[in-house]
Amino acid sequence: MELENLTIASLRNKLIQGEFSAAELTKEYIKSIHENDESIGAFLEVFEETAKVNAEEIDARILKGEELPPLAGVPLAIKDNLLIKGTRTTAASHILESYDASYDATVTEKLRSAGAVFLGKTNLDEFAMGASTEHSAFGVTKNPYDTERVAGGSSGGSAAAVAAQMALGAIGSDTGGSIRQPAAFCGVVGMKPTYGAVSRSGLIAMASSLDQIGPLGKTVEDVAILYDAIRGKDPYDATSVETDPVRIFNLERVKKFTVGVPKEYFIDGLHEEVQRGVEEAITKLKTLGVKFKEISLPHTRYAISTYYIVMPAEVSSNLARFDGIRYARSPHISRTHADLTRKYAENDERIPRDSANPRWSALWEIYFRQRGREFGAEVRRRILLGTFVLSSGYYDAYYTKAQKVRQLIARDFSEAFKEVDVVLAPVTPTPAFKIGEKSDDPLAMYLADVFTAPVNLAGLPSISIPVKKYKIGEKTLPIAFQLIGKHFHENDILSIGGWYEKE
Ligand code: GLN
Repeated sequence: MELENLTIASLRNKLIQGEFSAAELTKEYIKSIHENDESIGAFLEVFEETAKVNAEEIDARILKGEELPPLAGVPLAIKDNLLIKGTRTTAASHILESYDASYDATVTEKLRSAGAVFLGKTNLDEFAMGASTEHSAFGVTKNPYDTERVAGGSSGGSAAAVAAQMALGAIGSDTGGSIRQPAAFCGVVGMKPTYGAVSRSGLIAMASSLDQIGPLGKTVEDVAILYDAIRGKDPYDATSVETDPVRIFNLERVKKFTVGVPKEYFIDGLHEEVQRGVEEAITKLKTLGVKFKEISLPHTRYAISTYYIVMPAEVSSNLARFDGIRYARSPHISRTHADLTRKYAENDERIPRDSANPRWSALWEIYFRQRGREFGAEVRRRILLGTFVLSSGYYDAYYTKAQKVRQLIARDFSEAFKEVDVVLAPVTPTPAFKIGEKSDDPLAMYLADVFTAPVNLAGLPSISIPVKKYKIGEKTLPIAFQLIGKHFHENDILSIGGWYEKE
């Protein structure tokens, strides 16, 4: 079976016409995972049995001539920070190594009732903190175009799975670029919807005012189909709202759009091929009839500093719940607890002197030990940074100030959107970098988010679309651009992207 040219959009007819069955398709993807994932490392778990059963259910419905749901038989990969009831959900962290989800994320439930088949859970930077998937506790995901390079992150597993034909589509999350950047590095399409467009219920929270769940696929059309299946208001997420159904506008309407190009995004250090790629996208869109205009987003240069204050502040509070007892394997903990109580009896010096209660002291000891040992270095760094910026005495100087600058960054965009309908920009300053190249230098890694994080700070929708491939030595690497839209104007960026792709 030819997986390479298959799309979500074309699948439905193939299933109805009996070209192959959903079960055969799923089997083919599982085979592809077995063949390819040893060298890529996109999956943390593969649901061989349940995927087969779910695909057979779809086949039974086809046989009965039932009306098929929108994602009937679509084999998907799900980032491992999204809950699927009854399955392991680790967020690529040792602290959740034995956690089984007790409920479905709203997105999972929506995809399931739309007929999707879950192939497995994909790798990510621990708790989605990173831009390379090198911070996973369970190994690095490699770029399918060059296995010496990163797949990007944090949704590196989801992007690599789609790129290497190990899933027809995937779901990721984007807090500061985690869908768009790995999509760009792996040559697939990825969209971060507007903040509030997709329910976050059942997403393991990283930074709640920035997190959004979104789709990855081979084409803009596929991403549009997936987005349509997961969007909308949800009683379990008070920030979610009802949104317009997906509609791809006709070319006449697309020609009426004016696209802004922010001068602050073409900086020193922007890789030559990235610049060339973005210029090529602009040229192509111009031939479609779309108008362009230079714009200014003057506060762009404060975006990274702002993001790396607001985000860790929220991280430190969200991750407080992982105390090593809740969500953990209980026999291990009770053993630890017993050990510690014994240690207390021997008057261990780390136990608070003022505490008269041995159980209480033992509990603290568990917290310190578990959190210190089971969170990775990057997660600990962010918890410490976040705790610092929220501490009394520093709160105003860092956190309050960052919140103010966040408003200025958001205002830059709303000012720009008075003149233009959509903003076009690079996704990342460079193509996929080498594994290990930035892993010892957190600041260099953080700078990879320079073009994506502002969009999360402003809560806007943005889609990353591959534009070209460029050769370095023997290898070919993808380059992408992003289209940023007004709040809840996903249809604008999907339409421009869709026409770009079609031409
Ligand atoms: N690379 C960014 C970070 O490390 C974005 C992560 C994300 O979007 N989850 O925070």
